[in-house]
Amino acid sequence: MKSNYITPPDNCTGCGLCDNVCPKDAIHMVWSKGGFLVPSVDVTACVDCGMCVKQCIALEEKEPYTDDLNSVESYGGWNKDVDIHLSSSSGGVFTALAVKVIEQGGVVFGVVWKDKLTAVFEKTDSEDGLARMRGSKYTPAVPGNVYRDVRNELKNGRQVLFSGTPCQVHALKKYLRKDYENLLTVDIVCHGVPSHLILERYIEEEEEKTGKEIDYVSFRDKPEGWLRYHVTRHYTDGGLQSEALGTDMYMRMFLSDKALNHVCYNCPYAHIPRQGDITLGDYWGVEKLHPEWPIDKGVSSILANTSKGSVALNRLSDRLELRIEPFSKIYNGQKVVYVRPEKVIPPSRSMVLERLRELSVTDVYRKVVQTVTFGPFSLSKFSYIYRLLFTVYRAVKSVKHKLLKK
Ligand SMILES: Cc1cc2nc3c(=O)[nH]c(=O)nc-3n(C[C@H](O)[C@H](O)[C@H](O)COP(=O)(O)OP(=O)(O)OC[C@H]3O[C@@H](n4cnc5c(N)ncnc54)[C@H](O)[C@@H]3O)c2cc1C
Ligand code: SF4
Ligand code: SF4
Ligand code: SF4
Repeated sequence: MKSNYITPPDNCTGCGLCDNVCPKDAIHMVWSKGGFLVPSVDVTACVDCGMCVKQCIALEEKEPYTDDLNSVESYGGWNKDVDIHLSSSSGGVFTALAVKVIEQGGVVFGVVWKDKLTAVFEKTDSEDGLARMRGSKYTPAVPGNVYRDVRNELKNGRQVLFSGTPCQVHALKKYLRKDYENLLTVDIVCHGVPSHLILERYIEEEEEKTGKEIDYVSFRDKPEGWLRYHVTRHYTDGGLQSEALGTDMYMRMFLSDKALNHVCYNCPYAHIPRQGDITLGDYWGVEKLHPEWPIDKGVSSILANTSKGSVALNRLSDRLELRIEPFSKIYNGQKVVYVRPEKVIPPSRSMVLERLRELSVTDVYRKVVQTVTFGPFSLSKFSYIYRLLFTVYRAVKSVKHKLLKK
């Protein structure tokens, strides 16, 4: 009886390292009921070697770390090419790094849409291939055999740029077991990855509303600038529909943080010290500090975590505007994504995931996410009773205020 193979641990990140290390290709990554990637083992092919368990990043002992925020080398920056800048999520720094690697005969690994429902890792050694990697796909990326593929390219002596979430960069380094001079890693600032069920229900709902088929969704467009970014639905007939992040149901659900992967609430990878040679994110708050910078097009926060990362950034002066910024300023824009204090898992998370299996995103958002609880009762903020109570509450408050003023 075999017993040494992996069963998905609670804190499974979906990194796919177990799949990459299996000598018999007995592991496949599948969607869990909650909409996250987990390993599934074909027990008949498994030889019970235990390698998957031994390598699993969720089962490893975590070394204690201290956030040393004073020694971080940090920058604000953006791509000098306007088209690349506008078509990237933030400042387009990823493309600047990638183009350089390709010019040197290297290869770049990043995430692209395989189809409207599936984001996957892919590699490219052409500048044209980078266009599909641009833009954040806010859904779990299917790793496939990406770590094996990276190692093969490294062993062939090619320059490699790998960009992914901190847990994916961590998994890659664990897979490689040693440092390669020809590898540059980028970890993106990451507050969590949402359930794939949101994308499934969202696409269903929008296709039903319009009667048209969606080709793919672009989550970070800038028709009204970077600060008020839009989600664009691209249809197979060539049409598009764009919606601001505040009203788009996908972004409302994602940013509610009620349907993230379990491990993301207490992530052991996305903190300082970082996993990548370089960390890229949005420089939120920069508009107050440097209004003269191209705020409408987007500004990246950039951390150089190793000397390799620092050298790679500082040789890009022909295509990258790089401005030294104290880390304290970048950090103030979104503290939680750099130090990761323990977050409580929202009590409604399991209900949200369960309901997403049958209801539309709009219904789940209204009925479960946007609710208030009074003791054992919970009430949707969109319900008639809530709105009535809220109107009465506001009226009483205003009368009280007037009486106190007298
Ligand atoms: C799930 C997720 C959560 C994020 N959360 C934050 C946040 O809280 N705060 C913040 O400042 N930034 C966050 N980011 C990062 C941010 O959105 C930008 O990706 C980053 O600033 C790089 O921008 P860019 O303009 O240089 O690159 P772009 O040209 O926009 O390139 C995007 C890069 O992200 C990679 N990528 C895209 N989708 C995925 C995915 N699903 N998994 C792994 N890699 C992917 C691509 O391979 C590419 O390298 C998040 C990104 C993701 C994917
Ligand atoms: S125990 Fe070995 S053969 Fe079996 S699934 Fe794990 S890595 Fe593969
Ligand atoms: S190696 Fe990664 S995907 Fe596999 S079980 Fe561990 S955390 Fe999950
Ligand atoms: S929050 Fe952590 S575990 Fe979750 S996707 Fe990001 S890096 Fe991975």
